[in-house]
Amino acid sequence: MGNNGRTGHAYRKLIAAVKARPDGWVCNRCGGSIDPGLRNPHPQSWSLDHLVPLDHGGPLLDPSNAAAAHLTCNSKHGNSIKKKIIASQVW
Ligand SMILES: [Zn+2]
Repeated sequence: MGNNGRTGHAYRKLIAAVKARPDGWVCNRCGGSIDPGLRNPHPQSWSLDHLVPLDHGGPLLDPSNAAAAHLTCNSKHGNSIKKKIIASQVW
């Protein structure tokens, strides 16, 4: 079982906590609702967004730094950040 932050128990718990919020299924970037029936890698599926990007020192597991976003809205703003994460991760 991997425990490199993004796949660990704490990360899944954070995702569950964000989804349970009143705005847990509303994209914080475009304001649109997110369809619970869609799954990653669907562009409109739910994804965990970090308000302060990890690249800029934002905490990975702090609920106050986490919000819901469409996968596409999330990756639009975090392109450079995501590339870095992928490059540093062993899949
Ligand atoms: Zn969106």
